[in-house]
This record gives sequence, structure tokens and C-alpha cells, in this order.
Amino acid sequence: MSKAIVIGAGIAGIASAIRLALKGYQVDVYESNAYPGGKLSEFEQDGFRFDAGPSLFTMPQYVEELFKLAGELPQDYFQYEKLDEVCRYFWDDGTHLTAWADTEKFADEIAAKTTSKREELFAFLAKSKQIYEITNHVFLEKSLHKLATFLNIPTLKSILRLPQIDAFRTMAKANESFFSDKKMVQYANRYATYNGSNPYQAPATLNVIPHLEQHFGAYFPKNGMFDITLSLVRLAERLGIKFHYNSYVEQILVENKETKGIIIHAEKRFADVVVSNMDVYFTYKNLLKDAKQPQQILKQERSSSALIFYWGVKKQFKELGLHNIFFSDDYQKEFNTIFKEKGIDDDPTVYINITSKLKADDAPEGCENWFTMINVPNNIGQDWDTLIAKAKLNIIKKINKNLKVNLDELMVTEAILDPRTIESKSFSYQGSLYGTSSNNQFAAFLRHANFSSKIKNLYFTGGSVHPGGGIPLALLSAKIVGEMIPSTS
Ligand code: FAD
Repeated sequence: MSKAIVIGAGIAGIASAIRLALKGYQVDVYESNAYPGGKLSEFEQDGFRFDAGPSLFTMPQYVEELFKLAGELPQDYFQYEKLDEVCRYFWDDGTHLTAWADTEKFADEIAAKTTSKREELFAFLAKSKQIYEITNHVFLEKSLHKLATFLNIPTLKSILRLPQIDAFRTMAKANESFFSDKKMVQYANRYATYNGSNPYQAPATLNVIPHLEQHFGAYFPKNGMFDITLSLVRLAERLGIKFHYNSYVEQILVENKETKGIIIHAEKRFADVVVSNMDVYFTYKNLLKDAKQPQQILKQERSSSALIFYWGVKKQFKELGLHNIFFSDDYQKEFNTIFKEKGIDDDPTVYINITSKLKADDAPEGCENWFTMINVPNNIGQDWDTLIAKAKLNIIKKINKNLKVNLDELMVTEAILDPRTIESKSFSYQGSLYGTSSNNQFAAFLRHANFSSKIKNLYFTGGSVHPGGGIPLALLSAKIVGEMIPSTS
């Protein structure tokens, strides 16, 4: 039986393993942590459960697809619900806006609470849909590095429509043309953060993202985000895949320009195919030290990182929902501070995710589990302890002002995740959340391919390679890898 080794049990590593097992491979997954999921994990503290990383679940069809491929019913493993309410937005001047999943209702909300008109939202979302329809086949679902991708009618049709994807102005410029109210421009610009980019630099092609959320919907896994990981691990184990935890892979074995397996605990483990779910930067720097390094790819700008305060709060807030955003007053200044100065603005946009709103046992009675996050730069050796202490004060000040509380008195437990710990826990270079940034028009073409052009039978999956970061794209990278690797029979 042909053997495959997957390095890393991040969501893309697990999904790649499942696809290879279904192609007839005997698959071993080596994971350096004691648990699966990488960034998509959870922890408990003082009676509160927290999803450690991702909090927004979109495109559940890519998860479901894996169960269906295996001939299983997705609902036997994994349940989730569609959200009626996508996000609650707050501004310091007292404006509150709810983004409803029902677009008509959202348009009414915008007309009632801002100076923008209903039609502005419809035009914005129509453009978003158009970009999705053009880019989906070309940029997301196929390798950009295989000629075959381009030699079919749907792709050729998409290529002819590329001038319509709005690649030659920034998101911020485009959004100023869609919305007359500054608050709505800010709402639209925020989508750049969904892949760690800067709306004042990133091409307006990223306006594809609202279509994913507003058209396909935002969802909540009934047992929390970590259940995405756990349910796929259950499926993988059922398919005979073996997970080896606390197992850091030290080297990828290469002989005569072909991979032969890996070295772990100083021992060789042989395989016909190796898939690396480790960040491509560290795959080259740590596991392929003797290989030719793709310098141009590895030196690209990284996406932003995050600073998260996991707070147990002994109060329940009616004005808050599952997803909440407290916007900064000067968004452009905030992004300049993150991307140009590599610092944290004194007035950061604060995101609070509260899963106990939908999953009551995530917090003790009368309490809430707050996942409080701000966007911060990638780790280039800043004085994080000083930055974090200052950011905490600024975040609390902003929340106190908006919710008219004294948060210090309500906090019963705290844990912190910052770019350094994101880097050390998942081997993500500079603690970036989404691999490389999409701050220029060519970003999609500059990500590493899902295979090595120099080393036979070596593949790459996950948020640091094509098509990019975030759960849906990480799952698509696994799909591309799975479809590229030949079946064993
Ligand atoms: P990872 O999750 O990084 O997993 C890689 C795994 O490989 C890790 O478990 C690591 O330990 C293991 N590994 C690495 N090297 C080795 C080695 N040499 N040997 C053995 N094991 C190794 N996405 C969304 O869709 N929605 C969100 O709301 C969202 N929010 C986020 C918030 C935060 C705070 C973070 C950190 C990320 C967020 N993301 C979000 C991004 C999303 O989590 C990632 O894009 C996705 O989980 C990446 O999955 P992955 O499989 O590529 O890699």
C-alpha cells in the first residue's frame, strides 16, 4: 500500500489526510502539539470555554464535502446553524448597526441608521458577487501553477472578464464610490482584515469577501469552532488515518530530487508522498535546509497578526451578540500604524466574539466568555509586553465608554494570545494569521504553489500557500492537493 505523510494537523493537514486516505493511501499525520487543529483549537479556564483562534465560520460546504466524499452523512459528525445576525457594529458616537443575514433587512437598517441608501448596499453586493463569479474558478479552486487550470472554457471565460474584478484601485477607494456614509465605507473596508490585509493598499478585488459572508452566510458550529477540527479528526480516524501528537518533524528526506519521507525524533519514516501543512516559510527554513529556497516567495510581506484577550466576564450584555465590532474613529490611521509603523494604534477597532450567547455552557451562569481581539502587526521583534499593556488599557477604555461599564470590575479570568505565541504554537512565520498579505494585485500569483517544482512528490497545504488563509481557503488548498496527487491503484 502506498504511504503518505502529512506534517501538521492544522485544518488543511487533516483535510489533506482525508483526501489521501480516500485515494487509497495509508496516511500518518505528525503534529507537534499535543492536540489537533493548529490555530483552530480551544481551551478552558476557570469554567469558561474559549475557541482559541478562528471565530467566524463561512463556507461550511467545504467541510461537508469531506464527509460526503467519504460516503458519510455530515450531520452525523458535525452540526451548525446559519446566523440570522451576522455582526453588530458600534461606533463611539453611539451609532449601533446590525448586519442582518437577510439583505433586505440589512438594507433597511442601513437606511435607518446611516445616511447611506438601501441601493448602495445592493450595488456593493452585486459587485462582490460579480467578482466572486469571475475569480472563483481561477483563483480559488484550482492550482494557479498548472497549465491545465487555464485550458478549459469556464476559466478562459473568467480570464476574459478579469478587467471587471476591480484590481486597479484599492478597496478603500472602491468603497468610497459605493457608499456615501463614512461608516458604511468603514464597514466595507473591514473585509480586508478577513485575510489580514490593509484596505488602503489591497486591491478592490478583495471586495469578493462580503459575498461569501452575506450571500453564502455566516454560521456557528453547535459545539463551537473547535468542533470543525474534532469532527474531521473523527472522520479521519474512521478512515484509518493515524495521528501522532507531540511529534515535531525535523526534516523532509530528499534523495535525487524526490522526497522519501521525513525525519522525526532522529529516525527516518518513509513515504511515497509528503504533504507539508507547516507554514511554507518554516518548511523551507527548518525542514528543507539543503534545498534551493524560493527567496522571492519567502520574503513577501506577511498578513497582519492579532492580539487576543480571552476574558471571563461576570455579566451578560443584551446589547452584544455573537460577533461585535467597536470601530476606531480613524480607520486609515489605525491601518497605517499596523502596516507601516508596525505598532498598535491608541484607538484600535475591537472585535468581541461571545460564543456563550449561542452555547450557554461556554460560561458559568450569569457570565460571558469574551474573545476580545484587535488586529496588530506581524512579529518583527517589537517590544510586545509594552505594546500589550498599553493596548489592554485602550481596549478597556473603549469598551467602558461604549457599554458604560467598568470592565476591570467584571473580569474574572484572563488569558492572552499575541503574535509571539501564535508563531510558537503553530509555527506561523511572524505570527501572521493568514500567510502572506494580499496588499497588492499580484498577491494571488505570488503565493507558493501547492506542490514543489524541484522535489518530486512533495506538496504544500494550508493558509500560507495557494489560495491563501482562513478556514475556507485552507480547505480549498487541501482540495487542490488532494486532486493533484494520483490515486494509488
Ligand atoms: P495551522 O492551523 O497553522 O496548523 C499548522 C499545524 O502544523 C499546527 O498544528 C502546527 O503545530 C503543525 N506543525 C507545524 N510544523 C510542524 C512540524 N515540523 N512537525 C509537526 N507539526 C507541525 N479563519 C477563518 O476562517 N475565520 C476566522 O474567524 C479566523 N480568525 C482567526 C483568528 C485567529 C486568532 C487566528 C490565529 C487565525 C484565524 N483565522 C480565521 C485563520 C485560520 O485559523 C487559519 O487560516 C487556518 O486555521 C490555517 O490552517 P492551516 O491548516 O493552514 O494551519
